[in-house]
Amino acid sequence: MDQFPVINGELQISGIPITQLAERAGQTPFYAYDRQLITERVQHLRNALPEEIHIHYAIKANPMPAVVQHLAGLVDGFDLASAGEMKTALDTTMPAEKISMAGPGKTDKELRQAIAAGITINLESEGEMRHAAQTGEKLGITPRVAVRVNPDYDLKSSGMKMGGGPKQFGVDAERIPTMLKELSTLGLKFIGFHIFWGSQNLNPEAIMEAHEKTFDLAIRLSEHAPSAIQSLNIGGGLGIPYFPGEKRLDLTPIGENLARLLPSLQTQLPKAEIITELGRYLVGEAGIYVCKIIDIKESRGEKFLITNGGLHHHLAASGNFGQVIRKNYPVAIANKMDSEILGTTNIVGPLCTPLDLLANKMELPHAETGDLVAIYQSGAYGYTASPERFLSQPMACEILV
Ligand SMILES: *Cc1c(COP(=O)(O)O)cnc(C)c1O
Repeated sequence: MDQFPVINGELQISGIPITQLAERAGQTPFYAYDRQLITERVQHLRNALPEEIHIHYAIKANPMPAVVQHLAGLVDGFDLASAGEMKTALDTTMPAEKISMAGPGKTDKELRQAIAAGITINLESEGEMRHAAQTGEKLGITPRVAVRVNPDYDLKSSGMKMGGGPKQFGVDAERIPTMLKELSTLGLKFIGFHIFWGSQNLNPEAIMEAHEKTFDLAIRLSEHAPSAIQSLNIGGGLGIPYFPGEKRLDLTPIGENLARLLPSLQTQLPKAEIITELGRYLVGEAGIYVCKIIDIKESRGEKFLITNGGLHHHLAASGNFGQVIRKNYPVAIANKMDSEILGTTNIVGPLCTPLDLLANKMELPHAETGDLVAIYQSGAYGYTASPERFLSQPMACEILV
């Protein structure tokens, strides 16, 4: 991993040596997110994609308010999945029309809040459509809605499939014509479609194919729309490398392919704003999780570094957040970056479960108690995707640098 420079053997986050940053944080474990790296990532994306593509941030990837605040000045909109995230989003300068809420099982309270706020509701079912219409009527406000479509295709090489087949997300593409007929009779402002097919994809060909199929599906479905499509959310899916052998995604062919597909889409859906929604691609590589070595032991020929951080703060790095086969996240001894590798080591946390494993038989330099362990690629699905209260250990803190 090369996004953070090394000076005198110390990892630098936004120009601050890691040991100094730990002092500034006032504690380990902590998460640090690099503001400049987030800014650069958005710029990189804008350079690679046609300018017609609007970039939205999916807040669930990293809902730290300071991060969301920073992104408010960089991206074109936010996508959220709860009223809690809605609060964070509305506390920024992002206008409500640029915010949408997805997710199955929206409660009455969430729908009321979303409608009162004037954000777009991505409808996940026919029942939710009726519920939104009734709620709008009670409030005297016409809800802005888009229909989330469960596509009639899926994506072979996605880390996480979220479309195709039977799903709790969205409405099956084949049910959309009937749904839209009913929608046109309800007091709802229809603005378009949200088509989400998957996540964590590192294969440009697969992403290009998904874009092509998504455009085709949107055009097919638009024939049944009660009004012109104003918004077409084509999903996100861009992945980041986590494991050995994985490479950063080359956006060039993806951008070129979108530029090729856009003219015909624009002819058929001239009013549509085209949106891609991304979480981990924007913030994942900008974050690290840092914990401290408390004890070192040997057991039957293997070495164990025992830290004060673990799966209660970083479930994904322990391999328990949707991985089929456990692989190590990139890990370093952050204050000994220039030291030579001295054999294989395990890094574990303090929890009384063998699942609390941060590195399994990894090649690392000699480390001592007090040294800092850094886990890269931790800017997304880190702290808030972890069972923080498990074993009642102290909390981590988060800083944006
Ligand atoms: C989770 C989610 C995303 C973000 O996925 P990433 O892999 O973090 O880019 C985008 N859109 C929807 C609807 C989601 O549920």
